Amino acid sequence: MASAKYIFVTGGVTSSLGKGIIAASLGKLLQARGYRVTIQKFDPYINIDPGTLNPYEHGECYVTDDGAETDLDLGHYERFLNSPTSQSNNVTTGRIYYNVITQERQGKYLGKTVQVIPHITDEIKRNMFALGETGEYDFIITEIGGCVGDIESLPFIEAVRQAKWDVGQTNSLVIHLTLVPYLKSAGELKTKPTQHSVKDLLEEGIQPDILVCRSERRLPPEVRKKIARFCNVNINSVIEAIDAETIYDVPLLMRKEKLDDRVLSKLKMSPKEDPKMEHWKEFLGRLKNPTDEVKIGLVGKYVELPDAYKSIVEAFIHAGANNECKVDLKYIHSEEIHAENVENMLGDLDGILVAPGFGERGIEGKIQTVKYARENRTPFFGICLGMQCAVVEIARNVIGLEEASSTEINEDTTHPVIDLMPEQKNIQDMGGTMRLGAYPCDLKKSSKAYAVYSESKISERHRHRYEFNNNYKEQFENAGVVFSGINPETKLVEVMELKNHPWFIGTQYHPELKSTVLNPHPLFAAFVKAALAAKVEKATK
Ligand code: GLN
Repeated sequence: MASAKYIFVTGGVTSSLGKGIIAASLGKLLQARGYRVTIQKFDPYINIDPGTLNPYEHGECYVTDDGAETDLDLGHYERFLNSPTSQSNNVTTGRIYYNVITQERQGKYLGKTVQVIPHITDEIKRNMFALGETGEYDFIITEIGGCVGDIESLPFIEAVRQAKWDVGQTNSLVIHLTLVPYLKSAGELKTKPTQHSVKDLLEEGIQPDILVCRSERRLPPEVRKKIARFCNVNINSVIEAIDAETIYDVPLLMRKEKLDDRVLSKLKMSPKEDPKMEHWKEFLGRLKNPTDEVKIGLVGKYVELPDAYKSIVEAFIHAGANNECKVDLKYIHSEEIHAENVENMLGDLDGILVAPGFGERGIEGKIQTVKYARENRTPFFGICLGMQCAVVEIARNVIGLEEASSTEINEDTTHPVIDLMPEQKNIQDMGGTMRLGAYPCDLKKSSKAYAVYSESKISERHRHRYEFNNNYKEQFENAGVVFSGINPETKLVEVMELKNHPWFIGTQYHPELKSTVLNPHPLFAAFVKAALAAKVEKATK
């Protein structure tokens, strides 16, 4: 089992308390002390992965370098730790059962009754320990999705109980995240939900070692004492997690509460050194003291749920801090944009991003948006479907192919400027069959994209089925389009830009997935800079 230490993070009382942020913050603090840390998430739903889920159900689907479609919390792990995750970092109930049932059919359990305990729990544990066994990490933080007490999370909690014994008490601990609500009418913070949720965990055989208590108010000593007494933990293991101004404050708030110290002492490790958080603090300084502000429109069809665009939103936060500029993101529903109101809807923006997406709904609004940005010289950034809409718009309005479309929108279009890749044409299954994960891309030396990246060989992550149709390449080039990023093996278009426009870039890949606090994505940073320049130019007109 190598020598990794295992930290499990469970949640109680309600979902959405931010287990992912707590796990990522603790991971950051340990990493900043010089430890090698990775974070994984176990999700108790039956889908093999979240790739087939609607964004309204589950927010963004985050894609790793190795092409895994994963929970959006993995995005937080990467943004905080600045290190890549993989398929091994996200496992669902569906995958666990799939593995066990596949083995059953192969005869691996011949003669035996296959049961939740031990077969499902063993498979969960095998996955829990897999990253630890590589020897690459000192700490494996495992977030268990859902809430303690839910029927569906029982096998995971049971696996955590067993895992604690397998690796030994000084090699593992459980952090339980709960809610301490403030009741206005009573004027009091209430500890009962926390007590009950710890009781639920105890019933399932787990005594949490540390309690992290989400609250909108500071936890006074009497409340901490009460929680400690009723939940069998030391008072200094009751950690306050007060609502923060930004998720990026949480590592420092956890440091103040000494969460990392508690973890190290419980795991009998003598701390190597204090966490080095200078870079993080610098980032926060820049984030919180902007000298300017830009208004950027995010045009998409899932805007009612900003979690659907999580990585884009976070990439703007990194890019804004990088430019010491506040990015005021305006969410705009693409279905509400029409030729008649486009000026009204987009006129006050300094930059426009057309978001990724699937299917026909809201497409025409996105195409109108591209037209507006192109004609009004507003900085434009199109990501995946956003780039595809730019291609369709240019085909229709610049090249004059009025019927041009993507075959995702109109299968019978006479000008399929965006079309299915040949290898996608016969695919029947929807799960895990898109073009997924990291692919190389060569940037043209004289292009804007090259100037942004300052290198010609890049690698970016993908999640799509459709592509620019290379049969139309010449017509587009004659119309002023530069295909500045090309996949060296397949020759597929990865980046397109407009020659005679201040900043008009479309990417078939998803740059937002690689933006981190330490390394803001250069395209987002450059886009915010271009929006700032556009704002200044507008003001001087
Ligand atoms: N629906 C488009 C495709 O599959 C774009 C996907 C996306 O924006 N992620 O190619």
